[in-house]
Amino acid sequence: MKLDFEYIVLGLGGFGSAAAYWLSRRAGKEVLGLEQFELGHVRGESQDHSRIIRLSYHTPGYVELAKFAFRAWEELERDSGEQVVLRTGGLDVGPRESAIPLSSYSDSMDAAGVQYEKLDAREIMRRWPQWRLTDDMHGLFQERGGIAMAARGNAAHVRMAREHGATLLERTPVEAIRPAAGAVEVRTADATYRCRRLVITAGAWSNRALAPVGLELPLRVTKEQVTYFAPPNLPAFQPERFPVWIWMDDPCFYGFPAFGEPGPKVGQDAGGQETTGDTRTFDPDLEARDRVIRFLERHLPGALGPIIYTKTCLYTLTPDWDFVLDRLPHQPEIAVAVGGGHGFKFASLVGQILSELSIDGQAPRDLAPFRIDRPILGMKDPPRTYMV
Ligand SMILES: Cc1cc2nc3c(=O)[nH]c(=O)nc-3n(C[C@H](O)[C@H](O)[C@H](O)COP(=O)(O)OP(=O)(O)OC[C@H]3O[C@@H](n4cnc5c(N)ncnc54)[C@H](O)[C@@H]3O)c2cc1C
Repeated sequence: MKLDFEYIVLGLGGFGSAAAYWLSRRAGKEVLGLEQFELGHVRGESQDHSRIIRLSYHTPGYVELAKFAFRAWEELERDSGEQVVLRTGGLDVGPRESAIPLSSYSDSMDAAGVQYEKLDAREIMRRWPQWRLTDDMHGLFQERGGIAMAARGNAAHVRMAREHGATLLERTPVEAIRPAAGAVEVRTADATYRCRRLVITAGAWSNRALAPVGLELPLRVTKEQVTYFAPPNLPAFQPERFPVWIWMDDPCFYGFPAFGEPGPKVGQDAGGQETTGDTRTFDPDLEARDRVIRFLERHLPGALGPIIYTKTCLYTLTPDWDFVLDRLPHQPEIAVAVGGGHGFKFASLVGQILSELSIDGQAPRDLAPFRIDRPILGMKDPPRTYMV
């Protein structure tokens, strides 16, 4: 077994499988990926039928980044011959007076030259009679929004990385890493590998992976969940008739048309309790599910029906909800990505950027907001905000 690689990826969830893919396009057999569980496992952040992808974001920087995210998925689709993004349109909707003002989304799209429509409550209900809204509510519709097919995208990254020559090993936890004279040693139970560049994409286990290099980020891991409902009128919730949506208020809810299961999927953003990757359970939080049901009774009653299932999942949150996407200041041979609660839409792009940071030492994107040494990540008790 080969033990020396140019590039090793630690953790093969959404970001790591993408990094292995993009690295393998340029470095083929010189790429090793190591995953502690089986590939496609459900203990992390990236495994379900669908994640929202959208251009509508609260800063022009994210809108620009989202444009590149669509391109990265398109490149994977061309290379793999598989569809991984489904356009449904995306609706941001909520009270005019809300905790998450829509103006920052429309201003950001204006600044980035992205077209969208401002809709009042009546127009939203005319187009999508599934909604029940009052006159003090409004929305934004952006036609490129839709579904990033998470499980399928991850599988496509894995398959194509292997086709390009990468070695991806599952059930192979990395026990320790050790920088060693411009290289990095990566130890598993059975072997010690060496690489010139290491990519750490360890999600909820990021701090454990970073501990040997003396780094601890103020990450908060929460157990989140989504619920699939079987509605009485399933055709009304097909992707051609019902866009992905986000309720822009606190609490913030979001949902999907029927995709992957015979009914729409709904969740509350950041409605979960703090946990860890190892101690979390898979039990649904019944109170959180009740909040979703109360919301649907008020605003999307037709989506309600027997529960198909509730699926739990983890968020790994930075205090400002911005990603970490950087090389370590004192060990530039190591690059890290942590995605927060909104990273999947960017997964392929994050993999591409990680490959550029590792191979070229830089990426042609503005990564300043994602620096690992930004002040908030150095604070003991940082203020925590969210608006994504
Ligand atoms: C319910 C829910 C809804 C979401 N909705 C959206 C959405 O609509 N749109 C969106 O863009 N994003 C969304 N997100 C966020 C998005 O899914 C995550 O940001 C993204 O999936 C993060 O991927 P990751 O690769 O960082 O983490 P993971 O997929 O968890 O990958 C980390 C991997 O590293 C492995 N690992 C860790 N330590 C080791 C080790 N020592 N050795 C080997 N392997 C190791 C883990 O086993 C895991 O497989 C949602 C998340 C959840 C939970």
